[in-house]
Amino acid sequence: MNINPFESAMKQLAKAARYLDDPQKIALLKQPQRIINVATPVRMDDGEIRIFQGYRVQYNNNLGPYKGGIRFHPQVSLDEVMALSFWMMMKCAVANIPMGGGKGGVMVDPKTLSVSELERLSRGYVRAIADCIGPDKDVPAPDVNTNGVIMGWMTDEYVRMTNNKYQMTNEEKKKLRAAFTGKLIKDGGSEGREEATGKGGLYVLQAILSKMKPKTQNPKSKINSTLSRQLTVAVQGFGNVGYNIAKFLRDEGFRVMAISDSKGGVYVPEGLDPTLTLECKRKTGTLAGCYCKGSVCDSKGGRRISNEELLELPVDILVPAAMENVITGANASRIQAKIVLEMANGPTASEADATLANRNIVVIPDILSNSGGVTVSTLEWEQNLKGQHWTKEEVNTKLKKKMEDAVDSIWEVSKNYKTDLRTAAFVVALERIFR
Ligand code: NAD
Repeated sequence: MNINPFESAMKQLAKAARYLDDPQKIALLKQPQRIINVATPVRMDDGEIRIFQGYRVQYNNNLGPYKGGIRFHPQVSLDEVMALSFWMMMKCAVANIPMGGGKGGVMVDPKTLSVSELERLSRGYVRAIADCIGPDKDVPAPDVNTNGVIMGWMTDEYVRMTNNKYQMTNEEKKKLRAAFTGKLIKDGGSEGREEATGKGGLYVLQAILSKMKPKTQNPKSKINSTLSRQLTVAVQGFGNVGYNIAKFLRDEGFRVMAISDSKGGVYVPEGLDPTLTLECKRKTGTLAGCYCKGSVCDSKGGRRISNEELLELPVDILVPAAMENVITGANASRIQAKIVLEMANGPTASEADATLANRNIVVIPDILSNSGGVTVSTLEWEQNLKGQHWTKEEVNTKLKKKMEDAVDSIWEVSKNYKTDLRTAAFVVALERIFR
């Protein structure tokens, strides 16, 4: 069954609206402020011209310039980009950063393009949206299948076009790089941006776990006994977010038992090493057989699992870090984790939320868990505008504070209104947007 992500987002909005002093206010947020339809012609290596369909959705800029990633994926749809831009708006408000919500997407399977075709597509997409973006208008970033190299091409194209119009000084051109974030350091990127979403997820999880820990130590308390032993984790997705959160969790003493990519996963009950697993996948071209623990990878000590099985493993923490709508009404009753840390955008379909809540599974919502990425993106934007470059320590200190403050606000609302963390996060965000 295909779940429309924008309908899911609107259901979440309607649920949170009940807690506002004036629920009518949300009418403004039921549609984006602007939808840009982009048809990008690209000359392929064989000389043929192909047209790629894409979008840029600018949802709302009450709190600052639109902000959100650009996704390259064959299943990109307008509903998906609208939902993602809506969640970006909520996420920026949750993280309390001066940004609004936007998102972009191009319907393409980048694995079928050569590097030069990919570069021509990236530059062509920017030419199509150039009039609508800029450091004080709309600031795109990477998302699924886009990265720092692609942001570098896009920034270069944008700066080149703007310079052709206005003849800028080198200093002005440097500042204009604030039009994109998630760039490589050499192109004006921030220290710590590459791993910021994973690191932010770790800070959020740690802050939530410390709130969940009972203040008085009762050895008979179920949650107390769970939280005082080594917690086990399964991570779906092994890209930027999945790899980094798995690595940080392992570094902090969690046992990462399973990890997966689009072709399936590996399950290593003793706990796997994400860094070795990534090296193994790079060498062999597949996760299959990469059962990496200690300092070795071999074909024993683990087994291959499907993405569906991964979601239902008996672990303490489930981390969906790939695509949306993977936890649905169909599998929610079989999820065994006690905590779901949503690192992907929209991984839980709205009808699954109620089932998880009834089963006392704590869902740490995407707009909180993965807001570390946009937070450090905003720090990158700020550094570019000020002509500064901060150390990784400075960036991580600011990130940690933002994540802990966000958890504090959401936890308090969730206790006051006796509601789940997603609804509480929505209430916090909506109050800031309407203020
Ligand atoms: P990525 O392209 O680096 O990695 C995506 C991973 O998901 C890959 O390992 C891929 O193999 C896997 N995957 C794809 N389809 C899958 C499927 N059907 N089942 C299981 N695995 C599948 O992307 P990313 O940047 O890691 O983003 C992952 C998620 O996190 C997305 O929902 C994205 O919107 C969200 N997110 C990313 C950032 C960021 O900073 N990169 C920030 C916030 C949210």
